[in-house]
Formats: sequence, C-alpha cells, structure tokens
Amino acid sequence: TDNLLDQTAALIADSRCLVAFTGAGISVESGIPPFRGQGGLWNKVDPCLLEIGYFEKNPLQSWRLIKQLFYQTLKKAKPNAAHHGLARLEKAGYLKTIITQNIDYLHQQAGSARVLEYHGTYKYLKCLQCGYRTEAKESMLVELPPLCPRCRGVLKPDFVFFGEAIPQKVAMESEKEARKADLMLIIGSTGEVYPAAMIPETAFHHGSKIVEINIEPSNYTHSITHIFLRGRATEIVSKIIERLKI
Ligand code: NAD
Repeated sequence: TDNLLDQTAALIADSRCLVAFTGAGISVESGIPPFRGQGGLWNKVDPCLLEIGYFEKNPLQSWRLIKQLFYQTLKKAKPNAAHHGLARLEKAGYLKTIITQNIDYLHQQAGSARVLEYHGTYKYLKCLQCGYRTEAKESMLVELPPLCPRCRGVLKPDFVFFGEAIPQKVAMESEKEARKADLMLIIGSTGEVYPAAMIPETAFHHGSKIVEINIEPSNYTHSITHIFLRGRATEIVSKIIERLKI
C-alpha cells in the first residue's frame, strides 16, 4: 500500500482538477451508520419508511423514525480526520470540489467551502405544499410531523427520499464537475445508489483517473478504479496528507 499511497500523492500533486466523491463510509468513523453493508441501517429498519410515497401518506410514522435516525444522531456527530483532511486539501489548493451523497453536513463543519450536496441536507426542512424552506430547529421537532409556518402543510427534511428526483441544480453542477475532473477521489461509497453512482462513471468516461478508498471493494473497484486504497477513510486520508506535506 505504501507504493499506492505514493502514487496517489503524486497524482494529486500533478492534478489540475481534483474532485472528491464521498458516501456514507466517510462518516462511519464519526459514529453515523451507513445504510448498506456491515452495521448498515437496513438490517434494522424498513427502507420503505424513507420512500416519498409512504411519507406523503404517513408523515407521522415516517417522521418518528427520521427524528430518531437522523436528527438525534447527526446533531451529536463531529467531523473526523477524513473530513478534515479534505478541507485541508482544498485550502492547500489541490481539491476543487466535494460532491457528497451524505446529508450530515460534516464536510462543511470540517471547513470545506465548496460542497455539492447531491442528496440534500438534514439541516433544512421543506414544505410539501408551498415549497417554503426553513432551518430545522429542534423546537420544530417536538410535535410531529412539523408543519409549515406559512401554510400549515407538512414539512419534509430537505434530503432526497427514495422515489424522489435529484434537485436539478445540484445534479447539473455535479455532472459538470465530474466532466471537468482529471482526478476523482471516491471515499466510502458502494456505487449502488443511482443516479449518484453515475458521477464517478461520468468522470471516468471523460478521462479522469479514479482513486478509491474503501474498507472493502465496491462496484467501482473492478470497473473504473485505477488505484484502490483499502482501509478506513481516516487512516488513508491522513496518510495521503502526510505525503503531500500540507
Ligand atoms: P454507500 O454507497 O454510501 O456505502 C457505504 C460504503 O462505505 C460501503 O462501501 C462501505 O464499505 C464503506 N465504508 C464503511 N466504513 C468505512 C470506513 N471507515 N472507511 C471507508 N469506507 C467505509 O451506501 P449506503 O450507506 O447504503 O448509503 C445510501 C445513501 O444514503 C448514500 O447516498 C449515502 O450517502 C446516504 N447516507 C448518508 C449518510 C450520512 O449522511 N452520513 C448515512 C447513511 C446513508
């Protein structure tokens, strides 16, 4: 692996447009469980609760789970060495953009400035009826489901549910960044969740080199990945930062 880490550091140093693509795996070491794989939430809860059709019909049931799974866990989570490492790569001028599938806000908390939240964020709520968007304050989640202060419609977390489309603006910007990238760093993503999984494929088909960090092989590993760095996100990112001396 030492050799692969050296190669990765050299690729980063030579890159013109480095883009990171992150999945739930980068936040596992911050104490946030992934959906799939080891310790994944889908072993414990029914994913149908996060389907938009279910939410629209049963907002109370859906909200009870969402509050417990996301709002109570995420507010306590802190960015880890991998999030901080990416923020440092950006400040040092190497990293141009992070495209994240995560909704946990940990990249921004670590100090990353340019973050595209492909699946939205848990930080805001959006009214299903009038589209009003407001910050998710704890006081709004005491009585469930939270209602729109403007029209009394049901508020939904402003992250993408199963069965919902990706907001057009972030979809287009992410696609654009993927086309521009000459090096993409994938961290902690299975490559099973579409259309997000297409971002690294787009980068690859437009000539980008792909470096992947994961504790186990993913859908990308044997298809588009040039360098696979097996290990925990915190450990591998820290080693890359060390080599770049930033
Ligand atoms: P995913 O595609 O995000 O997969 C998680 C991946 O992380 C797996 O490949 C796993 O091997 C890898 N991984 C686990 N621990 C790791 C570590 N310490 N270092 C590096 N890699 C590690 O799939 P998912 O979890 O099913 O998520 C589905 C969707 O829901 C994604 O969009 C995901 O980002 C989102 N989600 C977000 C959060 C969050 O905001 N933190 C949490 C759960 C799911």
